[in-house]
Amino acid sequence: MTNTLFCFGERIQCKALAKMLLNRIFSFILTFLLKFCILALLNHFTYYMKKILAFFIALLVADNIFSQSLSATEQKIIAYINTHIKEAELLLKQTVDINSGTLNKEGVRKVGAIFRNEFDKTGFATNWVNLPDSLNRAGHLVATHKGKKGKRLLLIGHLDTVFEPDMAPSPFRILNDSTATGQGVNDMKGGDVIVVMALRALHAQGLLDDASVTVYFTGDEENSGKPSGVSRYDFVERAKNCDIALGFESAAGLHTVATARRGMSDWRLTVTAKTGHSSGVFSKGAGYGAIYEAARILNSFRTELSGEKYLTFNPGVFIGGSEMEFDAKKAAGKAMGKTNIISPAVTVTGDLRFLTEQQKENARNKMRNIVSNSLDGAQASIFFQDGIPAMEPTAGNDSLVKLLDKVTRDLGIGNTQAGDPGSRGAGDISYIAKYVDCIDGLGASGRGAHAPGETMNMKEFPVLIQRAALLIYRLLHGE
Ligand SMILES: [Zn+2]
Repeated sequence: MTNTLFCFGERIQCKALAKMLLNRIFSFILTFLLKFCILALLNHFTYYMKKILAFFIALLVADNIFSQSLSATEQKIIAYINTHIKEAELLLKQTVDINSGTLNKEGVRKVGAIFRNEFDKTGFATNWVNLPDSLNRAGHLVATHKGKKGKRLLLIGHLDTVFEPDMAPSPFRILNDSTATGQGVNDMKGGDVIVVMALRALHAQGLLDDASVTVYFTGDEENSGKPSGVSRYDFVERAKNCDIALGFESAAGLHTVATARRGMSDWRLTVTAKTGHSSGVFSKGAGYGAIYEAARILNSFRTELSGEKYLTFNPGVFIGGSEMEFDAKKAAGKAMGKTNIISPAVTVTGDLRFLTEQQKENARNKMRNIVSNSLDGAQASIFFQDGIPAMEPTAGNDSLVKLLDKVTRDLGIGNTQAGDPGSRGAGDISYIAKYVDCIDGLGASGRGAHAPGETMNMKEFPVLIQRAALLIYRLLHGE
């Protein structure tokens, strides 16, 4: 019994001991796990704490650098733009929603009236430059602010777009938090609004007092009234009284501006030749005909001139046959030709783009030479017409990039450099580039200019207004 009891007792003791032991092991494992978890949490906590601290330090340092680089006045300009950005978006929507295709004169004038009202409120004297009826263009908006302080600035925009009323409408729409679309949103109503808002920000701080600023928004940039000597007369005359021109055509992102743009001219090649039965072609008596001669000329243009940097030339229409008509105004024609007749006539029209006047003249001389070496039985002549001059790269233009580079660095958005002149076509700024130092591409950023569905980057929009405002401010206030 005792034994049994003892045994029982022993068993109990044994069981209790075993239980205690198990409890100890269990509690040891639990404590270990708990400690492990706490340590892990603490570890992560310190890791995240470190990250958060590093972030705040970086923020403080950046803020310190930012506020050190921008003066108190400049910070006020930035603050003004940030608090008025909704007004900029509204103005953009309002102007994009009015069709202002170059030939829609009423639409161009309506858009002009909206911007005119903005400049009137900003202390500018405004007027509308009318063009002769024969040019069939709406005219231009000019806003002037007279003063004697700092550089005399010319700010350039345009009111028209490539979208005429007979094309499918595309009103202003926000596609997502960083993109908007609409006709002319990027080229270049966005740029026009940047000019308005930058000047408003300066005007609000009294920073335009005694400043000389001319804003010129042309009404026919996309398809200028001809002759350009008439449609651009007033524009060129006003530019002669300025020191610096800033073009607000589409920006190529935040880091590139244009210090040069290629110029453009047109040419027309006319070929005549003996005609006759096709069986005689290539013979001394019958010759080669006009189509072979025109083909020879174009191919020689390509082989002899196409390797030159910044020089391009593109035939747009090639029309020939035994009978043909060509209407230069419509860039259209009709042709008829039987395969057994040697063609007596060809007309080709094309463009020529160049970076300097010298390059243009050299190319024209080489082309004239090629044209004069006619095949048997054919004669050819080429006629050149000046279009838009080149905006040539100059040291003065480069110094403006340096100034803008300082602005963008001080704004904390990085550096600015000159873009590839080959990447941009001719623009209004080219007409006046030889009279002033100038840069272009200070407008809105986006994609697909001239194509339906063109977009504008709405996140970069406020930054580009700030960039423009600070550049104008520093030019006016002696930097
Ligand atoms: Zn444009």
